Amino acid sequence: MDSLPFETARPTAYEWTEKAYDLLLDGKLVVGSVMANGVRIIAAQGQCPRCDDDVAFVMETHAPLPATSRSLGASAEVADEYEAIEVTCRCAGSHPGRPEQAAQRGCGIAFRVDVLREAAAL
Ligand SMILES: [Zn+2]
Ligand SMILES: [Zn+2]
Repeated sequence: MDSLPFETARPTAYEWTEKAYDLLLDGKLVVGSVMANGVRIIAAQGQCPRCDDDVAFVMETHAPLPATSRSLGASAEVADEYEAIEVTCRCAGSHPGRPEQAAQRGCGIAFRVDVLREAAAL
């Protein structure tokens, strides 16, 4: 959805995490991780909870992420298998008001999702 203003007031509002959870359940948003050359790549694609564009999020990490917080819907039994990561919208839509210093993508929000701790091997 183009022309939705870039979010600056509440970039990490909890409602994005709640909406992302519904999108995950509906299969409209997919998050996963793979190992490639010793680097763990976490990727999210599908509908952004705010702007409806493809979030097109990719993150590389060398170390396991700290399991400090848990996102919506994770129960104690699955807490060991899943970890919460913060996904930033990296859509290619145009959102007026995007700050110059920000990466030239995204609508300005971030949300938390659960991803399997065990990365699939490529
Ligand atoms: Zn967008
Ligand atoms: Zn977005």
